[in-house]
Amino acid sequence: MVGIASIFPYIAETLEPKRGGGQAAARESMDQTADTLLLYKSAAVGAWFVLLFVLERIWPASPRARLEGAGAGRIGDRRRLGRNVGFWLVNLALGPLVVIPVSAWAVGWDSGLRPDWWGGWPGLIADLILLDFLIYWWHRANHEIPFLWRFHEIHHLDRFLDTTSAVRFHAGEVLLSAGFRVGVIMLFGIPLASVLAFEAAVLVAALFHHSNLRLPRGMESGLSRLVITPSIHWIHHRAERADTDSNYGTILSIWDPLFGSRNRRPREPDMEIGVEGEPEPGFLAMLARPFQARPPTG
Ligand SMILES: [Zn+2]
Repeated sequence: MVGIASIFPYIAETLEPKRGGGQAAARESMDQTADTLLLYKSAAVGAWFVLLFVLERIWPASPRARLEGAGAGRIGDRRRLGRNVGFWLVNLALGPLVVIPVSAWAVGWDSGLRPDWWGGWPGLIADLILLDFLIYWWHRANHEIPFLWRFHEIHHLDRFLDTTSAVRFHAGEVLLSAGFRVGVIMLFGIPLASVLAFEAAVLVAALFHHSNLRLPRGMESGLSRLVITPSIHWIHHRAERADTDSNYGTILSIWDPLFGSRNRRPREPDMEIGVEGEPEPGFLAMLARPFQARPPTG
């Protein structure tokens, strides 16, 4: 199998162990290091996905069958799961084709804006906070700029929420986000380790805050002081435009109160999820929807 590191030389270069041994041995070793790192990341995120997917079916916060309709079985409405997995598969294909190469290319760029002291573990933590702050504004822009909403709306048209909602994005939004990410990486000179760590953290956070997992009340309110929990994010998916346009945070829960977008409405098990006044179209209709001439809803 061809290693990811050999496909994307920059990743290999970054992770190359600096020793004086033979070139071939070093290249072999760095290929394995990069592959192992990416494999661990995917395995950890995958395990988190499976864990939450199972737990949200054992302890649901919202009664799945009632909201998903009569067709909902033990794992949920299969047609809905099929649509969400369909979007995910398209996005998985875009990763190695577009998102990883352009990110790896951007990492090699140095704007000179990054000070020398910004490094090591404190630098990594600072990068994660900076990127989370920027993604708050990117998400907010996706709601406030009608062109971006055309694509982001597909994520919101889901009539129910669970872990699979976290990977349901229109390919256009994935590409636009990749463009935003490239700009940020280049401007702030974000190193590859921070990019990979942030990517994993966003997935772990998104799987958690979209999940239908019922947490003990004390645990949920404790966690919500620091991070976005399902009770906060579900309000963002309530089919009321005023609620949809609130609670934009991804990882940390500090940005919404800071920038006036925190909505403290409590999550109700039977609240309506989706986009106000918009039924969810079929999979192919949703792929085409952003490109159709119609007055944007955003
Ligand atoms: Zn949104």
